[in-house]
Amino acid sequence: MPAPPQIGIVVLQPTAFCNINCTYCYLPDRDSKHVLAQTTVERLFTELFASGWALPRITVIWHAGEPLVVPVNFYRDAFSLIERLRPPSVSVVHAFQTNGMLIDADWCALFRDWEVGVGISLDGPRELHDANRKTRSGAGTFDRTMAGIRCLQAEGIPFHVISVLSAASLDRPDELLEFYLAHDIDQICFNVEESEGSHISALFDGGDLQGRYERFLRRFWHAARASGRVQFVREIDLAIPRIFRPSESDAHNTQVEPLAMLNVDSHGNVSSFSPELLGLKNADYGDFLLGNINRDSLSTIYENCLQSALLRDIRAGVMACQAECDYFSVCGGGAPINKLFENGSFASTKTSYCKLTQIVPTDLVLEAYDRLEQSWTDDSSSFPQAESPAVPQASAPSPRMP
Ligand code: SF4
Repeated sequence: MPAPPQIGIVVLQPTAFCNINCTYCYLPDRDSKHVLAQTTVERLFTELFASGWALPRITVIWHAGEPLVVPVNFYRDAFSLIERLRPPSVSVVHAFQTNGMLIDADWCALFRDWEVGVGISLDGPRELHDANRKTRSGAGTFDRTMAGIRCLQAEGIPFHVISVLSAASLDRPDELLEFYLAHDIDQICFNVEESEGSHISALFDGGDLQGRYERFLRRFWHAARASGRVQFVREIDLAIPRIFRPSESDAHNTQVEPLAMLNVDSHGNVSSFSPELLGLKNADYGDFLLGNINRDSLSTIYENCLQSALLRDIRAGVMACQAECDYFSVCGGGAPINKLFENGSFASTKTSYCKLTQIVPTDLVLEAYDRLEQSWTDDSSSFPQAESPAVPQASAPSPRMP
């Protein structure tokens, strides 16, 4: 008997529609105005909570399309519905990834009332942001996104930004940091512009992308630490607990475990693994779909997953990673969507994406750890200075990797 799934993340698409048209967008249905029905929300969470597969804490990420084009009251109704269905043993937190352009006092009230996690897509200063994040008529969106951020700040709502790094921004870590500090933005995540779906990133075409990104991230991280004003740099701060962890087990990778991420579109179609797979067309894998929650029980969807070529090939890729990659214990086998789009197969290993998201951060953290250990050896009274990276201190177990 396979172990039952452990579901901790639900990525739920309120609508595929987006009010803007970024040059790097891979979503194929961003013109569709179909909206998720409350009956689908009810069916999904009734099934999830009855299954016994929900982890004690479920994060619901409202994403894939611009979530704020759906009215505030849609979420008030959906959140209340989920709350009524929720058993006492499970907590649910909601999170939005938004372009921020529609944020106003009503949205801030929702975020505050439900303690919603808010991520804003902001690519840095106007010139970098407006180069790619455009309206359908081609105008830049910087001013409206910044207005949304100012509204969050005025209402005291915490948020982080996700900045997509293009070729132009990779050489400008200092300018990016200066921009965030000038606007009191202290929680920062980076995504390097990728090739996904119909979008082909020029960054992945050639050149020393890994080296450029490593120089960017090292410089940004160390300068951010030295400023004393940045709370969180995702690429480093999430890598540290994966590298320095108490048990011998490999890192938990929700993108390769069946139904660990339950990804549901606005029509109730269900997929799993990389959330970006949902909505893409693929004849070999049945469009990556495992069922429809309006029609199928969660146990049927799980059975479909266990018998799917999708799981078979993703597992083959994970086993190949385990056999050949020094970073496996930190990474756990990577992101299936990037293996498919970069290598043409789920049953493959290294991608540019894994070099950027796993290998570079791991190397930078270990580089800092080595420096710190050396400083302890040279002078046992020497502890991290203001500019030192935040590696665990003397009680940390030895890093497992590489
Ligand atoms: S870093 Fe890349 S090659 Fe290594 S385990 Fe992760 S996905 Fe596989």
